[in-house]
Amino acid sequence: MASALFAIDLQNDFARKIPRGTEVAEAVTEHLRRRRGDYELVVASRDWHDGDNDNGGHFPLAPAGSASQWTTHCVAGTPGADYSSAFDDSLVDLHVKKGQGRPDYSLFRGTTSGGEPFPAALARVDIDSVVICGLATEYCVRAAAIDALDLGYAVTVLSSLSAGYSREAEQATYRELEALGARISG
Ligand SMILES: [Zn+2]
Repeated sequence: MASALFAIDLQNDFARKIPRGTEVAEAVTEHLRRRRGDYELVVASRDWHDGDNDNGGHFPLAPAGSASQWTTHCVAGTPGADYSSAFDDSLVDLHVKKGQGRPDYSLFRGTTSGGEPFPAALARVDIDSVVICGLATEYCVRAAAIDALDLGYAVTVLSSLSAGYSREAEQATYRELEALGARISG
């Protein structure tokens, strides 16, 4: 099987807030340094929100606040939106940004640096499986895995190279993804 690796949202704002976040960014770098040859394509995504609006209810609205569970994060062009310094982004073939003005979780909703919708860019690459890792397990890793399964790819999630906000949410996500047909690998 020819595979693509998706490294999801290894960004400062997430690496700082998520337990094991920075450790995961380092571990993905190490994995790619050793195993780069296993992948036809290495994709990295970034949450890339607008700084001047609530991104479709994804950010709390000042000063009234909102029902959003999120605080402001990953505003385009700010240090919080940069890749974690623990992640070596020189190992990446394709950079995808998502969430510009919208509460997007899946990188399949994003666009490449060239401005192309990511699904179109991925469809040109001859792969039949995707290997997914990154932050956060129960949100953007989960959403990427579900969309990849829907598109017919064989999906493996690398649990040792992923982290979520809580252990319980990680485990629930892995059970859900396994039930949908994904393989969870340590
Ligand atoms: Zn976001």
